[in-house]
Amino acid sequence: MQLEPSFPEIHDTVQKLCSQFPSEYWRSLDAQRQYPGEFVKELTDSGFLSVLIPERYGGSGLGLSAANAILEEIQRSGCNGGACHAQMYTMGTLLRHGNESQKERYLPAIAAGELRLQAFGVTEPDSGTDTTRIRTKAERQGDKYIINGQKVFISRAGHSDLLILLVRTTPREKVANRTGGMSILIVDIREAMDNGLSIKPINTLMNHASTELFFDNQGIQHSPGPRLRTLH
Ligand SMILES: Cc1cc2nc3c(=O)[nH]c(=O)nc-3n(C[C@H](O)[C@H](O)[C@H](O)COP(=O)(O)OP(=O)(O)OC[C@H]3O[C@@H](n4cnc5c(N)ncnc54)[C@H](O)[C@@H]3O)c2cc1C
Repeated sequence: MQLEPSFPEIHDTVQKLCSQFPSEYWRSLDAQRQYPGEFVKELTDSGFLSVLIPERYGGSGLGLSAANAILEEIQRSGCNGGACHAQMYTMGTLLRHGNESQKERYLPAIAAGELRLQAFGVTEPDSGTDTTRIRTKAERQGDKYIINGQKVFISRAGHSDLLILLVRTTPREKVANRTGGMSILIVDIREAMDNGLSIKPINTLMNHASTELFFDNQGIQHSPGPRLRTLH
């Protein structure tokens, strides 16, 4: 038995959009290790990458099922949702834990396609499945956080303006519960590049634009009000 699609209009429109990007497009990009900029622009201009952003910030304010319908249709049509799906799954972090000034600063620009939020940095060389072992740390110095550490397998960092970054603000040994002492920061990659942050591509099997990130005394401005969230 086949289930009726929940969003037939989304499936239809995404399918039409994807038909402009046949297999040859993806094969040629993969061979050249290039990012599908035209495909991502088309999705952005059509509003599909901002479905989870509330209407007051310029998105369409839909829920996860709509986002799921979009990504499902992209993959079904033979396109690569992995090129841009982070803009969907990082959104919950920003919406739930970002403060108002962060939302006003970033969300309308993301919805308008002026800013890409396509990267999130969690995994490290010595911390994969057990996230609590991350060692990248951010230390508060005045109105800045100074970040030191390394992330690995970070997809699309070279094609994103913003990075959602998981760091330790209190060492694991100093917290009662090992899941405590971690914080999430928003890093503006454009400002951070060559200013403490360096990005090295990793050649993975598929066109996933994977990278390694090296933070060497990279400073980011402390945002007024609570940072995204500190887990204690
Ligand atoms: C294409 C690609 C893109 C990625 N993009 C990103 C990204 O954008 N951002 C990001 O932060 N990360 C990214 N990752 C990293 C990914 O999240 C990690 O690979 C994942 O968290 C697993 O970590 P690991 O590779 O270190 O494996 P490990 O943690 O070393 O695990 C290896 C194997 O051991 C198993 N295992 C681990 N611990 C236990 C245990 N206690 N008991 C039993 N079995 C166990 C695991 O299930 C797994 O099969 C990406 C990875 C890939 C391959």
